[in-house]
Amino acid sequence: MSAMPKIRLFVDHALGAGQTVPLSREQAHYLFGVMRQDVGAAIALFNSKDGEWRAEVVKAGKRGGILVCDVQTRPLQMPPDLWLLFAPIKKARTDFIVEKATEMGAVRICPVQTAFTNSERIRQDRLQAHAIEAAEQCGGTFVPEVAELSKLDTVLRDWPEDRHLIFADESMVGAQTALQAAPAAEKWAILIGPEGGFSDAERARLRGLPFVTPLSLGPRILRADTAAVAALTLFQANRGDW
Ligand code: SAH
Repeated sequence: MSAMPKIRLFVDHALGAGQTVPLSREQAHYLFGVMRQDVGAAIALFNSKDGEWRAEVVKAGKRGGILVCDVQTRPLQMPPDLWLLFAPIKKARTDFIVEKATEMGAVRICPVQTAFTNSERIRQDRLQAHAIEAAEQCGGTFVPEVAELSKLDTVLRDWPEDRHLIFADESMVGAQTALQAAPAAEKWAILIGPEGGFSDAERARLRGLPFVTPLSLGPRILRADTAAVAALTLFQANRGDW
């Protein structure tokens, strides 16, 4: 085994030298059915804890398989402690936000229901699967956790005050971005509103909280999915790991 494995898989299993890793039915289907891999193939595995490991397929079946870890190929690389809070929008755009937030290096993705959120339900399991796929694809060694949908009111009421919240406020359109106005912090979160924006009451409440900095994302109103990527970019370039 020498070349870097091309296929990367997230597994919910410990990784280490000589460690045996069983595959789920879906993973076996993907690896052996779709990707046509077989015994002897080298696959890169990661689990959000132990970095990335090269592993060899020792058993390949329709409903399962077994890999054995060889060497660590990458250490665990944690993104900054940044959460993305967003109001779910249409399915494809919500999927996009989760995928992009994973690529952009968020550690936690929290769908929140705001006054003008149209979507009352999300499929947390589907969104989590999107995050896994995005991490596999982008070379990350960490998969952000996708939380269940919760109400913005509740989230703010239970907020851990040592986490600074950057609030993308569309009423600031055209203002200076003002990320520099945020204090030095170790723990962060970004909040993006729904297509309908924030209600006046939400805006007033957010602006009154000591752990919140409102942020402008430039002279144009962005769609929520664009705003999420823009805010993550701004953060990573100024306070994050870029
Ligand atoms: N319908 C609203 C816009 C909502 S845009 C209106 O016309 O005012 C969706 C979300 O993206 C907003 O709630 C905000 O969080 C973010 N956003 C979009 N453009 C922005 C900008 N220029 N500055 C700050 N936040 C922005």
